[in-house]
Amino acid sequence: SLSDRLSSIFEGLRGRGALEEKDVTEALREVRVALLEADVALPVAKDFISKVKERAVGAEVLRSVTPGQQVVKIVHDALVDMLGGDADPSLSFATTPPAAIMMVGLQGSGKTTSTAKIALRLQKRDKKRVLMASLDTRRPAAQEQLAILGEQAEVKTLPIIAGQTPRDIAKRAMEAGKLGGFDVVMLDTAGRLSIDEQLMAEVADIHKTTNPVETLLVVDALTGQDAVTTAEKFKERLNITGVVMTRIDGDARGGAALSMRAVTGAPIKFVGVGEKIDALDTFEPERMAGRILGMGDIVSLVEKASQEMDEAKAKKAAKKMAKGEFDMDDLADQFKQMRKMGGMGAILGLMPGMGKMKKMVDQAGGLDDKEIIHQEAIISSMTKQERKKPALMNAKRKKRVAAGSGTSVQEVNKLLKAHRQMADMMKKMGKGGMKGMAKQLGMMG
Ligand code: GDP
Ligand code: MG
Repeated sequence: SLSDRLSSIFEGLRGRGALEEKDVTEALREVRVALLEADVALPVAKDFISKVKERAVGAEVLRSVTPGQQVVKIVHDALVDMLGGDADPSLSFATTPPAAIMMVGLQGSGKTTSTAKIALRLQKRDKKRVLMASLDTRRPAAQEQLAILGEQAEVKTLPIIAGQTPRDIAKRAMEAGKLGGFDVVMLDTAGRLSIDEQLMAEVADIHKTTNPVETLLVVDALTGQDAVTTAEKFKERLNITGVVMTRIDGDARGGAALSMRAVTGAPIKFVGVGEKIDALDTFEPERMAGRILGMGDIVSLVEKASQEMDEAKAKKAAKKMAKGEFDMDDLADQFKQMRKMGGMGAILGLMPGMGKMKKMVDQAGGLDDKEIIHQEAIISSMTKQERKKPALMNAKRKKRVAAGSGTSVQEVNKLLKAHRQMADMMKKMGKGGMKGMAKQLGMMG
C-alpha cells in the first residue's frame, strides 16, 4: 500500500527536525501513483503534487508520527483544500419564489433520481415546498419515471400533458410553481448519450427561459475522466453552480471529484450513494480525500497526535517507563491520554503495527471508555502513597478504594494487575518506544 511504501522511504528519518526536499520528492512520487490509480487526471495530479511539495518541504515532523505519515497528512490537507474544503454545499434560493433548480447531464448519469432525492431532502430537512417537473420528452416514459419517484418521495410533480416541448413544460412548471405557492421548482432535463449541439442548445434555452438559481450538473463518478470532460463542455455553455456526483457507492475511487473541482471550479454539492430515494449525502471533502488516498487511518492518527499529544508529558513518561518507575499516577495519565484520543481500542487500531496488541486487548475483554473512567475513579480513590507504591494495597485498602470509587474489589484487583503487567512490559520495552513494544508483542504472539 501507499502507506507501506512511504514508511520505507522514510525509515531511519525518525527524529530529524524537518522534512527535506529529497525525501519529500521521493514520497510524492508514490503519492502521484496513488492519485493516478484513483483516476485523477494527469495534469491535475502534477499540479497538485507541486503545490504539496511547496507545503511539505521544511515542515516540522511531529514527534509522535513518522515523516511518511506527516507527508500523508500534508497531502490529505491539500486534497481537502483542492476538493473545496470551505465550499458551502447548501443551495441558494435567493430569488422571488419559486426558485428554479435545473438538473443537467448526460443520459443515465442519474439526473431523474437525483432530482427526486434533492426534492425530498429540501422538503424534509429544509421544509421547502417543492414541485418537480420532467422536461425529458425524448426518452419514453421519462416523465412517468419522475412521477413515480414523486409518489415515493411524496413530492408533487407537474401533471403530464402529452405533446408539449421541453420549453413549454418549463414555462408551465414555473407558472404552476408560482400559482401553487411553491418555494422550489426542480427541472429535470433530458440527457444524451454524449454531448451534442442539439442538447446544448436545448438546455441553454431552458436556462434562459427559467433563469434558475442553481444549475446542477449530474455526473456519474464511475465514468471517471469522461465525467470531467462532460463537465468542461457543460461549463462552456452554462453557468454551472454545482455538481452532483452519483454512484459514489460503486467502486470509483473518487479521483474524478478532484479533477472535477480543478477543471470546472464548480463545487460538488451532493453525492449519490445508492439507488434509494434517500441515498444522497452532502459532499464532504474530508471523506473524499480519505477515499482518494485510501489512508484515512493515518490521517486521523496524525490529526489526533498533533492535537492531543502533550510531547513533554510523553517524554517524561517514556523516561520513567524505561527506568521501570511507572506508578499509578502515570497510569492515570495514560488513561487520560487514551480517553482524549478516542479510547484505547481506537488509538491502538490506528498505530501501524499495533493491530496485534489491539487484538490482545480485545481478547482480554476489551477496554472501553466507560471502563477507563472507572479505572480513573479507582486511582483517584487511592492515597498518594498507594499510588506511588501499589504494593501497599492489601485487602482492607482495596475494600476502601472500591467503596470510594463506586466500584468493586474485583475491579480494583483487575486494575492493579493491569498496572503490574504494563509496568513489566514497559521495563522490558526500555528505550525501544512503541516500535520496540510492537516487536516484543510480535515475538510473544
Ligand atoms: P438520468 O438518465 O440521468 O435521468 O438517470 P436516472 O436518474 O434515470 O438514473 C439511471 C440509473 O442510475 C437508475 O437505475 C438509478 O437508479 C441509478 N442511480 C442514480 N443515482 C445512483 C447512485 O447514486 N447510486 C447508484 N448505485 N445508482 C444510481
Ligand atoms: Mg432522466
